[in-house]
Amino acid sequence: MIDFRSDTVTKPCNTMKQAMFDAQLGDDVYGDDPSVNELEQWVAETHGFESAIFCSSGTQANLLALMSHCERGDEYLCGQQAHNYKFEGGGAAVLGSIQPQPVENEKDGTLCFKKLKSYIKPIDPHFAKTKLLSLENTINGKILPLAYLTQAREFANENSLQLHLDGARVYNAKVALDIDIMKIAQHFDSMTICLSKGLGAPIGSLLLGTNELIAKARRWRKVLGGGMRQVGILAAAAKTALTENVEKLKQDHANALHLAKSLCGIKGVSINPEHVQTNMVFFKLDKPALIHSIAQELKAKDILISPANPVRLVTHLDITKQDVDVFIKELKSALSKSTL
Ligand SMILES: *Cc1c(COP(=O)(O)O)cnc(C)c1O
Repeated sequence: MIDFRSDTVTKPCNTMKQAMFDAQLGDDVYGDDPSVNELEQWVAETHGFESAIFCSSGTQANLLALMSHCERGDEYLCGQQAHNYKFEGGGAAVLGSIQPQPVENEKDGTLCFKKLKSYIKPIDPHFAKTKLLSLENTINGKILPLAYLTQAREFANENSLQLHLDGARVYNAKVALDIDIMKIAQHFDSMTICLSKGLGAPIGSLLLGTNELIAKARRWRKVLGGGMRQVGILAAAAKTALTENVEKLKQDHANALHLAKSLCGIKGVSINPEHVQTNMVFFKLDKPALIHSIAQELKAKDILISPANPVRLVTHLDITKQDVDVFIKELKSALSKSTL
């Protein structure tokens, strides 16, 4: 299968499986798992945070961040397109009694400070208390500019807000900009990292923050059923993801660009390759309704895409440049059949 639906579909390689096999284990709820302890400490240090906590998923890591920064009746500012607003089942509201205040994302994925400012509520019993600004990087494959992050920090300081980064794909930004991860991480009070996307681990995310924040998060993680026992088996995969797979994201980005440029030449497809910054490619069909039959045709050729408009294609560890070429060939064939 050549699976373009998401970078979550990657399967652990043999090196990773061996590391999992060899991992030293203990009961992590008692704080006894050496592999988890080593991972959390190492990640905190290398990202410039006091503390870190290993979580079952990115959704859980974001929820822990929101519930640890905010209390019942508080709110967080975020993008209308933010994963932790739109794609996490309303968890902050459902489980944390925290109100989201979404703001339309600009074309480049940023949030306009003027608009954000207008949504900050005065201290008054009528209003939720605005506590946190949550950003996402990358967002739909786009990188938040470093200068924007500096401004976001200043904005948060001026308005007494905490600043969180949903960094599910922050390593794609790091690699694309070719900078140290600290250059991004330094601006934030907390940050998540997904290990089970482009980095290729089967399960797991990390939340980073102050000792105080992570202590709160550890409590909420247990409450939410996320206290796991001999989880060093997953921490070992996480460590391999961060030590072995970061540089490989460059190949995913090169493949995405190759994919976009190849799509560019196909009749009935519209795409601007200049919009491709990391591992995501979005294209539209002149006849969007065709996408369902095309997805079926491709599936018969062992190629998976999500039928949508625009279509999102994601490159990852388990897609090669040759796979991209196979896809292009089969897409052309499917398009020519469907327009008969
Ligand atoms: C995937 C993703 C998450 C959630 O991660 P899961 O592990 O799927 O729960 C959070 N934020 C962003 C930006 C994501 O892409």
